[in-house]
Amino acid sequence: MSSGKMKYRTEYEYSPESLESNPAEDLSGFRVAPRDHVYTLGLSLTRKCNLNCRFCYYHETGDSETASCGECSPSTETDPPDTLARMLEVLPILACINVSLEGEPLCHSRFSECMEIITRHTDSIILTTNGQLLTPEILQHLKSLKICRIVLSCEAGDPESYEHFRKGASFRKFRTAAELLNESGIPWLVYGFLFRENMASFLKYPKLAGELGIGKTVIGRLRECPYSRKNSLHRIPDRELLPYLEELHKEFVRNGIALEYDPYISAPENTELLRAKGLQFTDVPANEGLFCNFPWYCTNILSDGKIFPCCGDFQPREVREYSFDGIFNSRYLLILRRLLSENRVPEVCLKCRNLI
Ligand code: SF4
Ligand code: SF4
Repeated sequence: MSSGKMKYRTEYEYSPESLESNPAEDLSGFRVAPRDHVYTLGLSLTRKCNLNCRFCYYHETGDSETASCGECSPSTETDPPDTLARMLEVLPILACINVSLEGEPLCHSRFSECMEIITRHTDSIILTTNGQLLTPEILQHLKSLKICRIVLSCEAGDPESYEHFRKGASFRKFRTAAELLNESGIPWLVYGFLFRENMASFLKYPKLAGELGIGKTVIGRLRECPYSRKNSLHRIPDRELLPYLEELHKEFVRNGIALEYDPYISAPENTELLRAKGLQFTDVPANEGLFCNFPWYCTNILSDGKIFPCCGDFQPREVREYSFDGIFNSRYLLILRRLLSENRVPEVCLKCRNLI
């Protein structure tokens, strides 16, 4: 049953103004050129969600009850065929469109139509979902499109914890989603992130993954946000993270489940230690000596059409114009490219990489 509205988050830590010292500076030398099959666009279809997870990055407040699909306020969704098609038509053919961010994509009232539009403009599609609304029919349709991977989210190793952290979710439906995905033949994996409060439960996850036929799992680390803090969920302190990862890794090996670490999980010296113990990290594209090359080939557009440049805690901003330049050469990206190519790594990046 639904309850009162959840409030959508409005305050973020960083903005273009907080990153640049001279707003009048000409940054045109940091533009990239339109080319087919090179760029990746993260795309949010909707703010609507059927859940009210306690760590949701996009919520600011919410009561203790479950939201129903479309309860987020204000609820926006990309409006096909107009907005989405117009925006994609001005871009080159993308290497990948990653349908994630904000709400649950399957809550979009015209999800299938959106996916058909998307498939005409990209070489591949990644879809991230909480899995609660997946059906054989939806998967059958997705299989006919350019889906290269479905990412199912899970942060627990037992039904009670799963339903506690993902408020409004049913573990039975999660199990069904795993079964349907296995039957579909579409490549899929689970992405989960760790926080202090799910450490005990997640140790049980490898056994669960074995039972559910989950082939691969990638884990990251909770990005604390106002809503997770409100719900008393916290990052695992560094000194507890390394011994925990070793213990967790043994459970994955014992249960024969492939595990990868999001490279943003920890500082390089820690990841080196873990590599030495045989733990695998997800590959990131070669960065040519840069701290991060994300802003050179990737950006995100939210369901209200605003730009969210990359993974830092950035204030979404209006797109100047819906063109290649407006999206892939936004002021945000130009500033980040300049700072990173001059090896002046901003605080937002250090936090994004868990380095402070
Ligand atoms: S499923 Fe995702 S968008 Fe929905 S409440 Fe949970 S974390 Fe937020
Ligand atoms: S490290 Fe910086 S540039 Fe790279 S994804 Fe994070 S915030 Fe963006």
